[in-house]
Amino acid sequence: MKIQVPVRKNEKLTVDIMDLTYEGMGVAKVDNYPLFIEGVLPDEQAEVEVTKVNKQYGFARLVNLLKKSPDRVESKANIYSQTGIAPLQHLAYPAQLTFKRNQILNVFQKAHLDIPVQPTLGMADPTGYRNKAQVPVRFIDGALMTGFYRKHSHQVMPMEDFYIQDPKIDEAIKVVRDILRRFYIDPYNEDTHKGVLRTIMVRRGYYSHEMMIVFITRSKKLPAAREIAIEIKKALPEVVSIMQNVNAAQTNVIFGDQTKLIAGRDFIRDELMGLKFEISAQSFYQVNPVKTEVLYQKAIEAAELTGNETVIDAYSGIGTISLAVAKHAKQVYGVEVVESAVMDARHNAKINAIDNVEFTLGKAEDVMAQWQTDGLQVDALIVDPPRKGLEPSFIEAVGQLKPAKMVYVSCNPATLARDLDLLAAQGYQAEGTQPVDMFPQTLHVESVTKLVLK
Ligand code: SAH
Repeated sequence: MKIQVPVRKNEKLTVDIMDLTYEGMGVAKVDNYPLFIEGVLPDEQAEVEVTKVNKQYGFARLVNLLKKSPDRVESKANIYSQTGIAPLQHLAYPAQLTFKRNQILNVFQKAHLDIPVQPTLGMADPTGYRNKAQVPVRFIDGALMTGFYRKHSHQVMPMEDFYIQDPKIDEAIKVVRDILRRFYIDPYNEDTHKGVLRTIMVRRGYYSHEMMIVFITRSKKLPAAREIAIEIKKALPEVVSIMQNVNAAQTNVIFGDQTKLIAGRDFIRDELMGLKFEISAQSFYQVNPVKTEVLYQKAIEAAELTGNETVIDAYSGIGTISLAVAKHAKQVYGVEVVESAVMDARHNAKINAIDNVEFTLGKAEDVMAQWQTDGLQVDALIVDPPRKGLEPSFIEAVGQLKPAKMVYVSCNPATLARDLDLLAAQGYQAEGTQPVDMFPQTLHVESVTKLVLK
């Protein structure tokens, strides 16, 4: 059957917005034909222009907002939408929290999962929360410039206030940029693949206030590196580590293989859940320290530990969850696929004098199967997988290891719902999901789900 598309490209229409997709797009329907529109909210009416027409759905752009949602707040600046840094900035924060809870409810409903979902735990101040920045460096209007990419593009838009980053990090980027200008450092040119400096990374410890600056360069040499370091340390007393990473490849991947010290030490210290962590340039470390503590706390609560349990922390990263759980358990086993993360995790156990934790390098699905063969008795399992969720073979191994309790930390509701369905087939019943807003102003939805073996 040929579907009659009721709109034409470039046509102007007045539409009512009825929904907001998980990608933050407003949805309007023209004779049941969905149109996706950026920058509009449910309950709004807008004049739009059709930009793209597919068979099943189309896209339009906002021309004129005719009726505003009570949940609309004045955008701080257009650039946060243009760059995709803060795609929900026009939605009032309480409504963002509801939106995130609804994302989970929607996927659960579609998967016929009847699981209670708690209200999203939000931040008192949902801005300036990121402890890490990675900003591209380019030559724009005759000067070395820092900023962020325009959405779906390689064009860098100059920016100083990044809104969701620690303001101290924004300040550091500006100071470093100005120093680099004084030394005539040549910014990277993506078209010609020439120039020196590609990206500046800054990370700042939330409790320690220690700062690391990493220069990611195309060339092996960063001219005047030592002099630049001296100037940075003079201007920014919090900086304890200045590093260089060389990435000579023509790629979107930020880091290359080679990292070297320019000045100070090669890590910063910070704390999480009262534990010490040493974080090196390429370590994965949660970007929202305040909400990470809440997330971990919820995960530990859900595991209901008494101190006598054997616990597995799968996808353990640098061991943050394992180490936080250690004082509530008899023994913790972490498993993680990135070697440097496992080394960091072991080191972090040592500096906290924690000796009931053991980290294994490998794929969680393989190591789980091995633990099962070895006859390991497990009381509780905590998982924190990447966006793609759990492997089917991992879920099978869970069914054989049979921990009485399981806690699923998820950053993707779609794969969470898929996996909860598969886990139900292994006898695991989900008792409830707690969303935690780790990434205010963005579309990311993080949650903790508690499961029990029936
Ligand atoms: N729990 C940690 C890390 C979570 S991020 C924290 O809160 O900081 C997910 C982690 O899973 C990453 O460290 C990634 O390297 C790891 N990972 C991805 N695929 C994996 C696999 N198949 N097996 C084990 N670890 C994996």
